[in-house]
Amino acid sequence: MIKYIFITGGVVSSVGKGVSAAAIGKLLKERGFSVSIQKLDPYINVDPGTMSPYQHGEVFVLDDGSETDLDLGHYERFIDTSLNAVCNVTTGQIYSEVISQERRGDFLGGTIQVVPHITNEIKRCIGLVPHTTKAEIIIVEVGGTVGDIESLPFLEALRQMRSDVGRENTMYVHVTWLPRIGATGELKTKPTQHSVRELRSIGIQPDVIIARSDYVIDKNLCDKIALFCDVDARAVIPLTTCSILYEIPLILEQEGLGGIILDRLGLKQRQRPDWLDLERLIAIERSARPNVRIALVGKYVELQDAYMSVREALRHAALAVGVEVEILWLHSAELEKGKGWKKLESAHGVIVPGGFGSRGIEGKIAAARFARQEKVPYLGLCLGMHVMVIEFGRHVLGSESVNSTEFDRNTPHPVIDLLPEQVSVSEKGGTMRLGLYPCQLVPGTLAKKAYHKSLVEERHRHRFEFKNSYLEIMGEHGMVFSGLSPDGRLVEIVEISDHPFMLGCQFHPEFLSRPNKPHPLFRAFLERVAVKAKVLTQAVPNEVTEAAE
Ligand code: GLN
Repeated sequence: MIKYIFITGGVVSSVGKGVSAAAIGKLLKERGFSVSIQKLDPYINVDPGTMSPYQHGEVFVLDDGSETDLDLGHYERFIDTSLNAVCNVTTGQIYSEVISQERRGDFLGGTIQVVPHITNEIKRCIGLVPHTTKAEIIIVEVGGTVGDIESLPFLEALRQMRSDVGRENTMYVHVTWLPRIGATGELKTKPTQHSVRELRSIGIQPDVIIARSDYVIDKNLCDKIALFCDVDARAVIPLTTCSILYEIPLILEQEGLGGIILDRLGLKQRQRPDWLDLERLIAIERSARPNVRIALVGKYVELQDAYMSVREALRHAALAVGVEVEILWLHSAELEKGKGWKKLESAHGVIVPGGFGSRGIEGKIAAARFARQEKVPYLGLCLGMHVMVIEFGRHVLGSESVNSTEFDRNTPHPVIDLLPEQVSVSEKGGTMRLGLYPCQLVPGTLAKKAYHKSLVEERHRHRFEFKNSYLEIMGEHGMVFSGLSPDGRLVEIVEISDHPFMLGCQFHPEFLSRPNKPHPLFRAFLERVAVKAKVLTQAVPNEVTEAAE
């Protein structure tokens, strides 16, 4: 029998519901269960792919090319399992499906209503998760906060699930926030009580309350929440904000949440959780490590969530290399105005992450020029690769008019151009080259040394590509094409030969990095950064292994 854990949020949003869901997944996976996690997003967009990162943070891409909420990144990083399209459902998807059924005449003249038609479709989408992922325990997180107009149909569907699949197979976890009142310094439980009351008015009684706060939460407060909200005292789990994200499963474990969930769902632990790996990573994260500075040159830097997976991938690589990364967030449009250069010059490495549109693009090109000329390690992710190619064209090949047709349609030298299959595409949603594609690595290159493999698969999200008519001339001037699609048609990775590490990839390696499995390109980049910072004397990524291959 499939078991479901439903996670709702109360009081305010952004209190760490996604990380709590991911951490609960980890508790169960460690006990020997196969777990999948789904996010139900109440907004009306079909997916976040068309939304500005300012609105929604990063768009996380899955193997199958789905463009999803950034919480799916947390889920994959915590449970180390690749998720699929059914793991992110929005109101937009639900309504599109129901309306197209209605247009086909599937409802035989009936009136289409939120209950039961919309709620049935929500339940059908939840049911697709065990069906397609074969997981035994499905964790379902509802975005937003209880009380939001948009989330009502989702909560009603979750309520109905209790009788559909049985009380013993469903449990409800409510994540709330305890505000601190300045005058007395007290943490307040009243908003939590109200949000639980709101949840109960919908017909959902939480089995567990995770109480979040920036301050230490006293046991008495948990008892008070238990009393007022009618939840077992041991099922009120205090969760104070901690600086080490990957410690959260351990904190929940210490609070006994793993056992509480198994008891509630009538499950027997299959194996003892083994936390050694995670404890080792946390110990490294706690230890004093030499500091390296990486300039992240982007256009959404005011909202760091827009680069969530890049930040996490750097964190994972830092644990493996044994350094502490300080990210210098640099706005590319500021560089254009001559601001922020001191910071850039103080960096031991430069990352230009993905992005769209021309705002700030010249600042990114200037940052790439700086990295190339000063031999500062550079990692270009998707747009960051385009920027690297444009810069090389302009300043090594010597033609200022070199550009991508994304930024100048009429450039005489379109070194980056639309993918041929994109030429006739006009719709914006879900139409890019998306998801996992193979990449063949060329022997003797930085990329090949980093991966120790000949063929890799990486996640993509782009419309533009390197234009092959420039292969020869760029190659003659020192650009190395170190990764290609297996048919040789598409450039996937470029490098610069007389540079310690200047590499750009057409894909997004950050989406596949996991805490205990740092991505090879991030790791190789960070090793060079550490050499630049004089923290490491040599960065020779396992030449032995490569020779043995
Ligand atoms: N805007 C570029 C493209 O569409 C890069 C996309 C990205 O960085 N993800 O190809």
